[in-house]
Amino acid sequence: MDLSFETVIGLEVHVQLATESKLFCSCPTAYIGTEPNTNVCPACLGLPGSLPSLNRRALELGVKAALALDCSVNAMTRFHRKNYFYPDLPKAFQVSQYDIPLAVSGSMPIFLEGRVKNINITRLHLEEDAGKLVHKTADGRLSGASFSLVDYNRGGVPLAEIVSEPELSSPEEAREYVLTIRRLVRYLEVSDGDMESGSLRVDANISQKCSDGRWGSRVEIKNVNSVRAMERALEYEIIRQREILLNGEEIVQETRHWDDGAGVTRSSRSKEEAHDYRYFPEPDLPPIKIDEELVKYIGCSLPELPWDRRERYIREWGLSQADSVSLSENQDVALYLEKTVAFGADRQLAANWVRTYILRLQNETGVAINDLAVGPEDLASLLVHVKQGSLSSTAAKDVLGIMFALGVKVGAAMEKSGISAGGVSRDALFETVARILEANPAETGVIIAGGDTAVRKRKYLMGLVMKEIRGQAAGEEVSAAFDAVLGSIRDRSL
Ligand SMILES: [Zn+2]
Repeated sequence: MDLSFETVIGLEVHVQLATESKLFCSCPTAYIGTEPNTNVCPACLGLPGSLPSLNRRALELGVKAALALDCSVNAMTRFHRKNYFYPDLPKAFQVSQYDIPLAVSGSMPIFLEGRVKNINITRLHLEEDAGKLVHKTADGRLSGASFSLVDYNRGGVPLAEIVSEPELSSPEEAREYVLTIRRLVRYLEVSDGDMESGSLRVDANISQKCSDGRWGSRVEIKNVNSVRAMERALEYEIIRQREILLNGEEIVQETRHWDDGAGVTRSSRSKEEAHDYRYFPEPDLPPIKIDEELVKYIGCSLPELPWDRRERYIREWGLSQADSVSLSENQDVALYLEKTVAFGADRQLAANWVRTYILRLQNETGVAINDLAVGPEDLASLLVHVKQGSLSSTAAKDVLGIMFALGVKVGAAMEKSGISAGGVSRDALFETVARILEANPAETGVIIAGGDTAVRKRKYLMGLVMKEIRGQAAGEEVSAAFDAVLGSIRDRSL
C-alpha cells in the first residue's frame, strides 16, 4: 500500500520586547557590544534579599502584540518559576508564565501564493530571557571549547513568547508565519524583530500524520538562527521522519538541534535533557490584575494592521500582491505612500515610485523615510507631471535625483535639469535624430539596407537619442521621428 503523509508544525516565537530596562529590574536591556556582566543588579542575578518588580512597559507591549493577534487578554495573570539548573540562569529558575498567561486564543492571517490561511494562536506570555554562554578554548577558538564563560547582561530581558496551534502544514507556511510575526512586531514597534541579534527566536514542533492512521511522535527543533535555517531544518525533519515511518519504525519524541553547517538535525540525547520544570507560582510577584481601561486604550490606539492594509491595497487600490506586501510592511512607508496619493498622485504610479525609487533612496542614504528631502507632496507634484505625460518616466527620474541632491521642489529641479514640463519639442527631437544619424553613418547605412542587424543598430541609435533628450519624449515619438528622418535620407540618396 502506498502511504501518504501530512506534516503538522507548531511554532513558538520568542520576541524581545523593545523596552529600555529589563522585565523585573531597572538594568538596561542593551546587551550587544556591552562589557560582559555590567548590566546586572542583585535582582536579575537573583541575589538573596532582592525583589523583582514588573516592568509596566513590557506588559503594555505584550498587550499590544496580543490585541493585534486578536487574543483575549486575561483580566488576571501571574508568573511562575520554571526551574532548571543550567549556568545561563543565575537563579536556577526562569520567571515565566504557566497556567494563566497574559493572553490566549488569537489568530493571525498568513498569505501564501495568493491565498489566505488563518493560523490560531494558543497563547502569548511574558518571560525573562536567560544569560548567554560563550564556549571558548584557551587560544580563543570557538570549536572544541575547553571552558565556558557566562554573560548575564541578557538575563532578565523581557520576551513575549507567541505559541501557535499546530496548524502549519509546510516549511513554506512556517516561514511565512515567522515573517508575518516579524513584520507585525516591527510595525507595532513592539520589537526590532532582528533574528541575527537574537531579538526573535523560533522553536519548531513537527510531526507526521500517516495515511494508515499512525501519528509520528512530535519532535522539537531548537537552534535555528534564521528563517532559512528553520525552513531547512523542517525540510530535513520531514524526510527523516517519513523514512522512519516508511520503515515501520517509531519516531522518538525528543528535542533535536539544527546543525546549520552539516544541514542535519541531531538528537540532544533526550534522557539527559528531559526536564521536569516543577513550575510553581513566583512568590515574590503578586498576581497581576490587568486594567480593563488600559486594554481598551491600547486596543483603540492600534494602527490599521499590516494585513488589513495589504488587503485594502489589493482590493481597493488594485495593487499587485508584491507591491501591497512591501508597501504595507512598514507604517511610515505606508503613510508616505498614502499621503502622496492624498496630494493628488495616481495610486499605481505612487506605489511604483515609492517602492522603486523612494525605498531605494532611503536604503542608499540611510535616512528615515520621514526625513527624506523629498516629501509626499513633492513626489505627488512630480507624479502629476508623469501622469499628464508632460514628463517621461526617465526625465522624471532625473528630476527626482536633482530634488534629492539639492533639496529643491519639482519646478526648480526641472529648470536645473533643463527639462521643460512640455517635454522636448518636435523640431528639437527631429534635429537630434538627424544629428545622431549623421554622426553614425555606418549604423545608419545598415539600418537603411535592412536585414538582421538593422533592428539592433536602430535600437542602439534610438538609445543615443533618448540619452541626449534625457528621455523627454515617448518611445513611439522617437521611433516616428526616426522613420521620418531615415525616409528623407533614403530619398536624398536615390
Ligand atoms: Zn538587574
